[in-house]
Amino acid sequence: MLELEQARQRIFDCLSTLPSEAVLLSEAAGRILAQPLVGTLDLPPVDNSAMDGYAVRAADLAQASREKPVTLQLLGEIAAGGSATFNVKPQTCVRLFTGSPLPAGADAVIMQEDVTVASGNPQKVVCSESVKPWENVRLRGEDVKKGAALLTKGQRLGTGAIALLAAQGLKKIEVTRRPLIAVLATGNELIEPGARFDAGKIYESNRVMLQEPLRVVGALARVYAIVPDSVADTHRILERALAECDAVITTGGVSVGEYDFVKKAFEQVRGELDFWRVAIKPGKPFVFGRCREKLLFGLPGNPVSAFVTFLMLVRPGLLRWQGATEVDLPSHPGQLAESLANRGDRRHFMRVHVDTNGMVRSTGVQASHMLSSLAGANGLVDVPANTTFPKGHLVAVLRWEL
Ligand code: AMP
Ligand code: MG
Repeated sequence: MLELEQARQRIFDCLSTLPSEAVLLSEAAGRILAQPLVGTLDLPPVDNSAMDGYAVRAADLAQASREKPVTLQLLGEIAAGGSATFNVKPQTCVRLFTGSPLPAGADAVIMQEDVTVASGNPQKVVCSESVKPWENVRLRGEDVKKGAALLTKGQRLGTGAIALLAAQGLKKIEVTRRPLIAVLATGNELIEPGARFDAGKIYESNRVMLQEPLRVVGALARVYAIVPDSVADTHRILERALAECDAVITTGGVSVGEYDFVKKAFEQVRGELDFWRVAIKPGKPFVFGRCREKLLFGLPGNPVSAFVTFLMLVRPGLLRWQGATEVDLPSHPGQLAESLANRGDRRHFMRVHVDTNGMVRSTGVQASHMLSSLAGANGLVDVPANTTFPKGHLVAVLRWEL
């Protein structure tokens, strides 16, 4: 049985980065950058005002105060988007707004709250505060310098990165292609949500559970019909899914029972099992294999086992496949509000809720079929075998996106 870290490495070792494609920036959130990007434009492009106010020469106002205000002659105004046609000579100023370009001669902006303009004499601007050189001015290139590194290859594009690239004038960027993932659920007991309930059956919940986590890591999901527990059916659908997609995720049918056919069917389609079983709870019977260029991630059937193995093994694999440099779940420190006990002999990823103050509590019974304690959870804590973390203990909470 492999340790989690070994299993992850075995998956990574099978992956070579997917090819890239150009996508619209509006479609690029969550995707992995396929090339390093360098600034092609200074940001801000020109010196401009950080305030609604007046472009001035700081030296004119060096002595200005409420008691001894200084009056400047107004030359005109420049709106945001306007051109800076004025030349600010000593004792003059120009009306500006946030984002207006700074006119020649000016080296500061006095904010309008520090100025009075008599209604009878709108050309006289009375300044009752001093300003330092470059005060309230956003300097050309202070955010991004043309030619400087912007983003690195392998970076996952978040909201801020998308905005930065848009500000550089980019409409399309090169990201790695999304892997298309077949999602299969196996089990004679499964019925489709929405179908009439049947005694002895359960509603299938794994395929829909995995949809959003797949989308969030940049993958495309193709959902297949429920697979009955027979080698022939499993073989037939697995073959089709492997032909149509880059990888297949199955749930169920990977244990040691008489109705567990995934491994057998995978070998029948000439797939090679790389490993089976990982020393974690929940999720021990996880299986990984290769079928030519395609991959199989065989998740256990119990929903919590399927979700945890998805997070710990499939998610990093899919990110690495797309060339991502950062593939771990985000981990945040938290403090246990009550003790957390793993009485088993396997490392246990326990479902917890961490509140906004960082206090961490178990979400209830940790058995791998318990969906209520999964629904209440927003994190996992990795508790070693036969270990009780006491109340007050500092833990690392692994978080996921939803
Ligand atoms: P298996 O790994 O096939 O032995 O399934 C383990 C447990 O998970 C059984 O109790 C199954 O009924 C349950 N299970 C398997 N697949 C699903 C699914 N897609 N949705 C909900 N429960 C499932
Ligand atoms: Mg089953």
